Amino acid sequence: MILAYAGMEKHMSILRMSKTLFKNLFHGPYTVLYPIKQKEKYVHTRGKITIDIDDCIFCGMCDRRCPTGAIKVEKGNSAWSIERLQCIQCSYCVEVCPKKCLKMDNQYTSPSNGKVRDEFIKCTNTQSLNE
Ligand code: SF4
Ligand code: SF4
Repeated sequence: MILAYAGMEKHMSILRMSKTLFKNLFHGPYTVLYPIKQKEKYVHTRGKITIDIDDCIFCGMCDRRCPTGAIKVEKGNSAWSIERLQCIQCSYCVEVCPKKCLKMDNQYTSPSNGKVRDEFIKCTNTQSLNE
């Protein structure tokens, strides 16, 4: 009885494996020729960090908590920057920002063969344009 059951299980496994094998043979590649073709992005895809620089108070919390050191905050210059390829999309900076001005965008950083540092500077000049 046990032997018959084991034999049936073996046949079922072969059947399942053959099904998968045939499906993959006729499906074609699951990968796409990135960046020429791109896969659909989902709402919660972790693409890249964006900042609403006008709301930033340059407290440096994101800079201190980033596990890879990708963010640099320069309070004196009202500047915030991120080394894109150093970021691992953990979203920790988004969680710790007291002003909620960081967001995880679902679009990836474009491919690059070098470092990519994006810098944002807050315009603090309050002088009237007519002066
Ligand atoms: S934690 Fe938020 S408010 Fe503070 S420096 Fe970073 S982005 Fe700006
Ligand atoms: S998502 Fe993570 S790795 Fe990327 S900048 Fe924020 S804290 Fe750093």
